[in-house]
Amino acid sequence: MSAKFTLIGSGLAGGMMAAFLGRRGHEVELYERRADPHAGNLVGGRSINLALSTRGIHALQQRGIADEVLRHAIPMRGRMIHDRSGKLHFTPYDRDPSKCINSIGRGALNNATIDAAQRHSNVRVHFNHRCTGIDLDAPAAQLIDTETDREKEVRADAIIGVDGAFSVIRRAMQRLERFDHSQNYLPHGYKELTIPPAADGAWQMEKHALHIWPRKSFMMIALPNPDGSFTCTLFWEFSGPRSFETVTTNDDVRRFFDEEFPDAVAIMPTLLEDFRENPTGSLVTVRCAPWHYQDKAALVGDAAHAVVPFYGQGMNAAFEDCVVLDECLAEFPTDRTRAFAEYFSRRKENADALADLAVQNFIEMRDKTASRTFRAKKKLDHLLEGVLPGVYLPLYTMVSFTRIPYAEAARRARRQDRLVYTGLGVVGILTLMLILLLAA
Ligand SMILES: Cc1cc2nc3c(=O)[nH]c(=O)nc-3n(C[C@H](O)[C@H](O)[C@H](O)COP(=O)(O)OP(=O)(O)OC[C@H]3O[C@@H](n4cnc5c(N)ncnc54)[C@H](O)[C@@H]3O)c2cc1C
Repeated sequence: MSAKFTLIGSGLAGGMMAAFLGRRGHEVELYERRADPHAGNLVGGRSINLALSTRGIHALQQRGIADEVLRHAIPMRGRMIHDRSGKLHFTPYDRDPSKCINSIGRGALNNATIDAAQRHSNVRVHFNHRCTGIDLDAPAAQLIDTETDREKEVRADAIIGVDGAFSVIRRAMQRLERFDHSQNYLPHGYKELTIPPAADGAWQMEKHALHIWPRKSFMMIALPNPDGSFTCTLFWEFSGPRSFETVTTNDDVRRFFDEEFPDAVAIMPTLLEDFRENPTGSLVTVRCAPWHYQDKAALVGDAAHAVVPFYGQGMNAAFEDCVVLDECLAEFPTDRTRAFAEYFSRRKENADALADLAVQNFIEMRDKTASRTFRAKKKLDHLLEGVLPGVYLPLYTMVSFTRIPYAEAARRARRQDRLVYTGLGVVGILTLMLILLLAA
């Protein structure tokens, strides 16, 4: 049963969702407020990248574009920790060195998903169209063509909101009775900075790693780009004695970086300019329920569940939404209300679990990765995974290298931790008793 879908937003998940719907033979009209992103991977002159892992790759495979996308990606095999003295410590992500996450340009990925959608003649993409409101009952979307300023209303059998964390579709659903909604901001913001390639075009740090400068209450990370540069992201408090709010002059910024990131500052020639000119973004977690209205509207990706970026999973989860919604629509071809409800029930607890994991991982990345205990725990994780294959799986492995639902991964990790720490406690007590016995 083919239907007419209007999709609002052609960010990372919009193109992917359109590709899935197009392949099933649905009529798809995709509206995006920005201009066609094929112009390049540069946002305001900056190269923006993100980490793609197993769940996202699975969705790309379903649409037959994984190989093409991965050709432009740089595998990152582990975390490279930079301490204040510039000393480096490498911790692999998994005991199997072939398991890695992939740094990919946001623009390249966006183009690949839009191209995949446009391969279907029944999918049409309209850039420069901003959605200003939704009539959920019709259902219809009100749009402005930002090139001509002309307003129009488009009707469909169903509207899908793939319009990101500040979704207009979700805002319309918030006016419905018994619609739950919460948004929580971290006290931290983020700013993107650049480490350019060396004069010969080479990467100035290890290319196959995600670099982290953990500094307890804040941190900087860097991911490699194919052109030899790194995109750095500083996650820092918005306000406080040392924060985005207070460190503003060139001298202050320079002093802060000299103190905290001396090895990075040496290879950041445009630091002051980047710091001044690049915007400071905020970090929000959005939860809502339900993710659909009858058979007329549904939310996908950040529109349904924006998470903070510290597990590198927001886009991966958004792609997984597309896979699950496609499965549900195929399972209930004549009952879209049931398909939307099933999609929501299969995804909601997983999105909630990911939101919690992402916040917890900020504390792990900015604080714990610097410690010897963290490195020892990772070694123990990998050892246990080796001696208990298929039984013990580290949480990071489950989240990044499997498609075990996020909620199940979180529960399993808690069970494993209880067993391991109880086991270690028992071994410790027995050893102590033995020592005391031998000494008596
Ligand atoms: C700093 C940072 C780093 C991140 N790193 C990672 C990572 O390493 N790995 C990972 O998996 N995820 C990462 N994420 C998360 C990831 O960016 C998001 O989860 C992902 O972009 C969600 O895709 P989406 O399509 O739902 O939303 P978006 O990508 O935000 O797309 C929404 C689209 O809708 C359009 N739109 C919005 N409103 C309207 C409107 N009214 N009318 C028409 N169009 C509209 C927007 O222009 C946009 O194109 C990161 C996020 C941040 C902030």
